[in-house]
Amino acid sequence: MTKFLELTYYNNRGFTFPNYLKPTIEKTLVGIQTHYIDLSNSQYGEQVFNIFHKKTDLELIENLVDLHGVFFEKFLSSKFRHRIHPYFNNEENSLKLLDSCKNYYSISENKNRLIDRIKHDFMKTSLIRLKNDTIYKKLQNFVQEKSNTRKCAICNKEYIPIKLPDWVYYGSNGNDNICYECPTVKSQTKKELKRLINELINVLNFIPNADFNPINHNFSSRVNKSKWIKVCKIIFEMGLKGNDTLSSESIFKKKFGSWFKALVDSNVLPNGLMESGRGFRCVAKSGNECNSLDEMFVDNWLFENQIISIKEPLYPKHPIYNKSGRRRADWKVGDYFIEYFGLKGEEAYDKKTKEKLLLANTLNLKLISIFPSDLNKISEKLDILKEITIANNGNRCTSL
Ligand SMILES: [Zn+2]
Repeated sequence: MTKFLELTYYNNRGFTFPNYLKPTIEKTLVGIQTHYIDLSNSQYGEQVFNIFHKKTDLELIENLVDLHGVFFEKFLSSKFRHRIHPYFNNEENSLKLLDSCKNYYSISENKNRLIDRIKHDFMKTSLIRLKNDTIYKKLQNFVQEKSNTRKCAICNKEYIPIKLPDWVYYGSNGNDNICYECPTVKSQTKKELKRLINELINVLNFIPNADFNPINHNFSSRVNKSKWIKVCKIIFEMGLKGNDTLSSESIFKKKFGSWFKALVDSNVLPNGLMESGRGFRCVAKSGNECNSLDEMFVDNWLFENQIISIKEPLYPKHPIYNKSGRRRADWKVGDYFIEYFGLKGEEAYDKKTKEKLLLANTLNLKLISIFPSDLNKISEKLDILKEITIANNGNRCTSL
């Protein structure tokens, strides 16, 4: 029998409460616990906190604790990411902070590793400084509730949710109603796979990317919670496993050549879809050509909400960040530039993403950046555009 994930190690491991989140510091604390407290009290810790802290952070932390209990940190870290990375686009500003970090740890590392450290340190400093009795009580209650043995909603196996590793909890977007050690089909036939692909897309109501997997947050965050068990059942029946997330050797590549070819063979793609070097080229409902299914998803949202957009508008020229003047955004609505930063942008802030953010920053352009994890709540990012379209009604042609 093949399991979706092998979690024996985690199941045998006891759960340890993150003690640095206790409201009062105990003298018995050692090691990593006091490290965070020392960090928070240091000059460097203070500097990091003052640069990145926002008044609404306590509220943000409380909300995440309500939703995810002791697993809230990974969600918080992903929220902070978009605040921290753009700061380092400005060399002058960030040099001081990078130096402080180097001095604090007496290390010399490259810029990206230092930024990772600072990101982590900002989160821990915030948690030390903002923790309180209410948060602590909520965490304790969560631990108690999730320490009870449950039966998996798919395979019926007994499991204890608190013992799920944080990467499984976060990866599945907090869907802890299954054990993730459920049996998966070892080898599925091509015919069955085609049927399952159709079933999956029917339930999801969107076409997932090649790296879809129940523990890939970019995917799980787009899935409606009420459909989670159904979706996972289908995926386990396909024979997907947890460690397929990053592996290009997944079942679809083996059986069909690629995920794209599997989609073609299953007849689930909209008309006018072609394979290109970068993945897909497809025609959205607006008639716009898009470079990926996600891009098409955003374009369709704009179209369905009657928002008039320009596809691939040019950015203004800039002597450093747009020398040739040929750099383009994905869309423009009114004076808002809109970018969909796909997988790469989310994880690593690749060079192109950085330079576009920098260009927008330097020229004070209004830029809406959309990342994969925004796709399930796209309205939050784009609702502002509805007002522009209303305001511009009547003089559409001149405003474009
Ligand atoms: Zn199970």
